[in-house]
Amino acid sequence: MLKLNDTSLLKAQCLIDGGWTGDGVDAVENPATGAVLAKVPRFGEAETTAAVEAAARAFKPWARKSAKERSQILRKWFGLIMANQEDLAQIMTAEQGKPLAEARGEVAYAASFVEFYAEEAKRIYGETIPSPFPDSRIIVQKQPVGVCAAITPWNFPAAMITRKCAPGLAAGCTFVVKPAPDTPLTALALMELSVRAGFPEGVLNIVTGDAVAIGKVMTSHPAVRFIGFTGSTPVGKLLMQQAASTVKKVGLELGGNAPFIVFDDADLDAAVQGAIAAKFRNMGQTCVCTNRLLVQDGIHDAFVEKFAAEVARLKVGNGIEVGVVQGPLINARAVEKVERHVADAVANGAKVVVGGQRHALGRSFYEPTVLAGVTTKMLVTREETFGPIAPVYRFTSEDEVVAMANDTPFGLAAYFYTKDLGRAFRVAEELEYGMVGINAAILGTEVAPFGGVKESGLGREGSLHGIEEFVEIKYMLMGGL
Ligand code: ADP
Repeated sequence: MLKLNDTSLLKAQCLIDGGWTGDGVDAVENPATGAVLAKVPRFGEAETTAAVEAAARAFKPWARKSAKERSQILRKWFGLIMANQEDLAQIMTAEQGKPLAEARGEVAYAASFVEFYAEEAKRIYGETIPSPFPDSRIIVQKQPVGVCAAITPWNFPAAMITRKCAPGLAAGCTFVVKPAPDTPLTALALMELSVRAGFPEGVLNIVTGDAVAIGKVMTSHPAVRFIGFTGSTPVGKLLMQQAASTVKKVGLELGGNAPFIVFDDADLDAAVQGAIAAKFRNMGQTCVCTNRLLVQDGIHDAFVEKFAAEVARLKVGNGIEVGVVQGPLINARAVEKVERHVADAVANGAKVVVGGQRHALGRSFYEPTVLAGVTTKMLVTREETFGPIAPVYRFTSEDEVVAMANDTPFGLAAYFYTKDLGRAFRVAEELEYGMVGINAAILGTEVAPFGGVKESGLGREGSLHGIEEFVEIKYMLMGGL
């Protein structure tokens, strides 16, 4: 079972208005072993309404605190998250499956947003605008939007929460969070640390349970002014529709279909390493993981050979074991989708270069897989696989590959490798994506704006821009001067 330095971080209740509440109903399982880690409450409409009302009561006092006071509490939360990095990583690997090194990395990444926005809290500047009327002045002030709701996925159980809450809290907003049912324990541990950091009662609330019922309250309660969601595109569209009835602000981080382009002039070794990182992090279960490896004719065969050899070496197992770099997929449904995509590709003429089946370890383990000879007719081209499958396509010209890359309703992350500076600018500007890695495969950092275009989402998280989602602009005209 879990070995924690501080066992009180393993919470199995929800936090509403400063109190821990609810009976354990829904089991949280370790995907690597099937062990039940804890049971969490199955809350619905009534408890979510209570949480929203608590956040509404907490809003004005929190917003009226000085930016420095909010900053200090955020800074304390950051310190506590980092001081408990190992325990949080253990909880995360146990419920999510990602290798422990990746879990530690995610905890640090999650904490970095809290640190960054503790700093930014003090810099939410307004402006003065030269007035066209001689007896007046124009002042623009930024104010927190109000109560915010956040619905988060299981692939980044900590970072998707802090990336939303930290900028909002810094601006003076209060929150109700709903974590994914597969990974509530990391989220609950973060909430326990928020209590220790000194956030006043009701500023941060969390509810687990019936997603549909919770989502309905979050999108329809008039007190909620912003809803932030990271997850699948269909659910994002539904929440946006639901939020329309009360005209809430929405922030959406949805699915991707990331191309990873290797031009003939690329550094082969760097491209191979980049492709491993961009594809196999978190077993391919991130929205910025590459879905399509587009490789130019001249380098295609050498790339496939080297890449497949590296993929064959990836060690699969329980993420808690030393040396394991590929854990289980999140659940049975995830493996079934991977199987369906591989079967469809093979039936339509793709060749399995390595992998291609469930792993001998059973459960939701799947072999890291490379498919060659993939065409745009196959399911892997159109749907986000969210698994350890790397489909390789061949292309000839720059124009052709840009068209292939953009031929999707999604536009989150894209990557390409080239040594030609002119091409680097040309292609980066032509790609219809919110984020582009040029000779770089890992984009996430708290200092840069993360987000997509087209059906990949709305708004940005991280950086100075991330705070803009959580403020309203107030224009004040001071007349009669
Ligand atoms: P996945 O299929 O990868 O789990 P989802 O988009 O279904 O992705 O899940 C992301 C988050 O959205 C989870 O917290 C999930 O519980 C939540 N969710 C799913 N359906 C709804 C819904 N109808 N309303 C509100 N939240 C939902």
